[in-house]
Amino acid sequence: MEKVVIIGSGAAGLTAAIYAARANLEPMVISGELPGGLLTQTSDVENFPGFPEAINGFDLMFKMQQQAERFGAKIVSSKVLSAELKNGGPQVLEISSGEKIECEALIIATGASPRWLGLESEERLKNLGVSACATCDGAFYRDVPVVVIGGGDTAMEEASFLTKFASKVYVIHRRDELRASKIMADRALANEKIEMVWDTVVEEVLGEKEVEGVKVKNVKTGEVSTIECKGYFAALGHVPSTEVFKGQVNMDPQGFIILENNSSYTDIEGVFAAGDCADKVYRQAITAAGMGCRAAIDAERWLESQG
Ligand code: NDP
Repeated sequence: MEKVVIIGSGAAGLTAAIYAARANLEPMVISGELPGGLLTQTSDVENFPGFPEAINGFDLMFKMQQQAERFGAKIVSSKVLSAELKNGGPQVLEISSGEKIECEALIIATGASPRWLGLESEERLKNLGVSACATCDGAFYRDVPVVVIGGGDTAMEEASFLTKFASKVYVIHRRDELRASKIMADRALANEKIEMVWDTVVEEVLGEKEVEGVKVKNVKTGEVSTIECKGYFAALGHVPSTEVFKGQVNMDPQGFIILENNSSYTDIEGVFAAGDCADKVYRQAITAAGMGCRAAIDAERWLESQG
């Protein structure tokens, strides 16, 4: 039986692993579908303290993993398929390698995954021009127009990044006001290659074998038009990756895990949560890391209290 298992290898999971490993708990980290988490898909991280010149998201996560491993964390490259959680444990997980894993304390740090509009055409053209990661796929769109959907920081960041490659970047937003922070918005709006398409929703992604454009509708005038593009980047925020724990651990209607009394405790004794799967307010690398630290300390103290 493992003492501590951490599900997820983003900023929350790996920080929990560093703390749990330094407490000699030899944590097992089940790294999930996207080892390193969402930060591996971003380019420069400019707001993680300690890196005045910014740090590449992938490099930051790689360093976190090395740090956790240095103190004895075991990283298992697998995905949790099902979980049987019970008060006081043991917690039982079935993972994609076919193994069953039992642990005394469990830290859920599964993060969140990109939200899509949910159009049939969007689904059909995924990886054929439809993407949710400009850092991963942006370089495929040299000297062609692309669209970014959304008005938050991710949309601004992705749009700015895409101008390195694309001939033109249309940012399609459903309102006439951005949700993005001022600094990110100003940077994007000042970029000559970026054109804002306000008050507009996407009705369909056009193309048979690859993206050829989007059919859009202005929500104020009702006017329907087409924007030609080769790439479609959804930047619509994220949904928590907590499906596998549904009905077992207390969650809000959107699937965010509810934590007890400003701690990392869930409603199940011995099960803790950290990071974006339990945070719909801050969702930053540094806050996820902080939550991971709290979860490891809470788990360590809980294990001690169990003798
Ligand atoms: P947000 O939730 O902030 O923004 C999502 C955007 O998508 C909103 O503009 C929203 O519109 C739009 N949207 C959502 N659903 C739909 C829909 N069905 N149809 C049309 N539009 C839709 O997510 P982000 O990923 O941008 O940011 C998440 C967090 O991460 C934030 O706290 C952000 O600050 C942070 N972040 C920080 C970065 C940095 O500092 N470098 C980089 C990226 C993110 P509406 O505004 O109308 O709701």
